[in-house]
Formats: sequence, C-alpha cells, structure tokens
Amino acid sequence: MRRAFLACLPFLCLAAICSAQIPRVEQIKGKTILLFTPHPDDDAFCCGGTLALLAQNGNRIYVVIYTNDDKGSYDPEMTSERLARIRKSEEEAGNRVVGVPSDHLIWLGHHDGMLEYVESKSLVEQVTGVIRKYRPDIVMTVDPGADNVRWHKTDHRMAAMNTLDAIRAAEWHLYFPNQRLQLGLEPWRVPEILFFYVLDSAANVWVNIDSVMDKKLDASLSHVSQFEPGVHKYRPDWQPDDRRKAEAEVKSMLRQRDGHSVETFRYATDFNQY
Ligand SMILES: [Zn+2]
Repeated sequence: MRRAFLACLPFLCLAAICSAQIPRVEQIKGKTILLFTPHPDDDAFCCGGTLALLAQNGNRIYVVIYTNDDKGSYDPEMTSERLARIRKSEEEAGNRVVGVPSDHLIWLGHHDGMLEYVESKSLVEQVTGVIRKYRPDIVMTVDPGADNVRWHKTDHRMAAMNTLDAIRAAEWHLYFPNQRLQLGLEPWRVPEILFFYVLDSAANVWVNIDSVMDKKLDASLSHVSQFEPGVHKYRPDWQPDDRRKAEAEVKSMLRQRDGHSVETFRYATDFNQY
C-alpha cells in the first residue's frame, strides 16, 4: 500500500512539495470551505478578515465549533448554561458580520476545556462524518505544530490533532464504514488545508485584510463576554472606552506585512500522500 506507507512520512516533505502551488486566498471563488474552531471566537480571531473576503467571493463557508465555551467567565453570577447561550449568540452575531449565516454553523456540543476527555474514537468519527457530509474543497483548522498548541488550552491541542485524524479517516472507506452503509456518506479526500494559529516561521500565506478590517473587528468584538469588563461582570454591550481597548487588543494579534494588516496561514495539500 504505497499511500498508506507514505502517510507515515513527516510533514516536512509536505511543505517543500506544495510550496510552489500556494493559491492567493483573496482570489478563491465558488469553493466549499469547512473551518474547524475549538471555541466560538477562534474563527473570528484567527480568520475573521479572511472569512469576510471568502464570503464576498461567493464561497460556501461552514464553521464547525468543537466546544460551547461554557466555562470562560470570571463573573460569579454566571452559570455554564447561561454562558453557553451567550457564546452561541455571540458566535452567530460574529459570523453574520463576516457573511456566514447561522445555519452554516455546526455545533459539535462539547464542553469548554473538556475536549481531551471526550472518547477519542468517537470524536474522530464525529468529525469524519462532518467532512464526508460537506465534502469541502478547503479545510481551515488549528496548526498542530504551532507553539500555541503546546502551551494553549486543551481544546486547541485536541481540535488540531483531531481534525487531521478525521481528514485522514474521511478518505478511506474502511474507517467508520457505518457512515457509508447507514448514512450514505461517501469517503471524501480533502484536497487543501489552510492551517491557522501558525508560527511566523511556518506561515506561507498572508491575507491582506485592510479592506475588511471593520468586519474583522466587529466579528471579534461580537464576543463581548470574552473581553474586559464583560469577562468579569457580564454585560451584552460596549462602552466606547472599553470597545476602543478591545479593538486595540484584536489589532495587536494581527501581523503586518508590506504595510498591510494580514492574517497568516500555512497552506498544505496532499496531506494524506506525503
Ligand atoms: Zn480558543
């Protein structure tokens, strides 16, 4: 089995092989794109501008959210159930801004911070089913090799690894054959991947988001419960000073390249072959 053997080779081969065929993300049109986010906000923080550009270009974007983010509040009056509802509405609002409708949000429903404790085979199977159902031209997901996966919270590590395991499984019909036999989900090989939360040294795609900076900020600041002061004492709206500080925080996460604000990615293809 040549391809099965090759699947064991290191990622390093991949970067060298695909570097010559990296697309301009701003020019992608008419594709189906599946973005996997650990929490309802990473999609806006990593890629809100890029998503806005992709939506403007008529791509079909679906956002798959691993967890309901029901733990991230210092407010002593907050409950997990209430926070999950707030986070869902914030994610819907943020995606409306960038052009992704609420019926394109796919909630996997796991608890915040607990992804590593979900039974691993069932988690891969769940995501494999999503990939086989939506048959994406491009998957966007957390880079499993980046620093923030090593030190960041459990859900980022797990989402990064699990999505890749599911991409591999989705291609081969003998993984989770019940999906084909009982649900009619045929195998699907993901042709292209855009990893986000990448190391600067690993980035090979820089998307200029100057023209959609307002959408990037509005989408990110839809998550009002995750910024000060809402994270300590929840309130659904912004005071002007607080909003200015939050905008500065979001902008500080962006990279600059050739005088433009950019979101960075690592593009890869033929993952399962090399
Ligand atoms: Zn996160």
